[in-house]
Amino acid sequence: MWLFKKVTDIQGFLNYQKQEGKTIGFVPTMGALHAGHISLIQKSKSTCDITVCSIFVNPTQFNDPADLEKYPRTLEQDIKKLVEADCNVLFFPAVEEIYPDDVQKKYDLGKLENILEGAFRPGHFQGVCMVLDRLFSIIQPGEIFFGQKDYQQCMVVKRLLQDVPGFDDIHMNIVPIIREESGLAMSSRNKRLSPEQLVKAPVIYETLQYLKDHIQKGDLQEYVQVAKDKLIANGFKPDYVSIADADTLQEITVWNGVTPLVALIAAYLGEVRLIDNLKLTD
Ligand code: AMP
Repeated sequence: MWLFKKVTDIQGFLNYQKQEGKTIGFVPTMGALHAGHISLIQKSKSTCDITVCSIFVNPTQFNDPADLEKYPRTLEQDIKKLVEADCNVLFFPAVEEIYPDDVQKKYDLGKLENILEGAFRPGHFQGVCMVLDRLFSIIQPGEIFFGQKDYQQCMVVKRLLQDVPGFDDIHMNIVPIIREESGLAMSSRNKRLSPEQLVKAPVIYETLQYLKDHIQKGDLQEYVQVAKDKLIANGFKPDYVSIADADTLQEITVWNGVTPLVALIAAYLGEVRLIDNLKLTD
């Protein structure tokens, strides 16, 4: 696997590969890699000639400084996993390399900016767009790979591709959520859970399954309340439980039985904030 820290070095390498006619797949991550990340690498490898993974814990997308500080960093283990997965290139730049100056662009994300994750993590999606704008400009990939685990982020990325000149020919791939046997969605943040919390954490997925199994046309609010109560009874502090239009993320309180739905949960277990989602309709 090729390792690059400098923008000019990886650009030189990738320009050569592109001249040779190779297609480039890109998987941006913040490291502490698990099987969910590796599934993105595998998807890229099955579609593209060269797969580039980036590891960059992006300071601009953390609204909580403690969360940034405690974010797990496991570069050596990550490199081993990427080599095992036969990833071709790892880009792990320093902060100054990604943000050489203080110029801050503002992205118009419409309603997506202030609902759900945006409401509870002000500025988060601006930070996500800032880093992806920079990373896509550096790598100039043909294909990009993101996890459905970050459902709202996927919608933000689609918008970024439409809005930033030069990004409209990048093709986005959304990869299903990889879960532990318990149902818990894999996440780098799971590393911060205690053994007791790891036993409780699958309740988020059980709650999503409950919603999928029970909702019916009509008022949805009582189902949402049952879901919140279930989380609270199991020691969670929910930020939100939302049933939303799967295409727009607009909250649906009364369902016509036709609109495609997704249920989304964000909840704290102790100090660790977990998110998960499940499509409720096929
Ligand atoms: P992160 O390192 O958390 O920024 O995640 C990097 C990419 O991996 C994002 O596109 C995530 O949506 C994706 N990802 C994280 N967890 C999972 C999972 N359990 N299954 C599939 N993809 C995931």
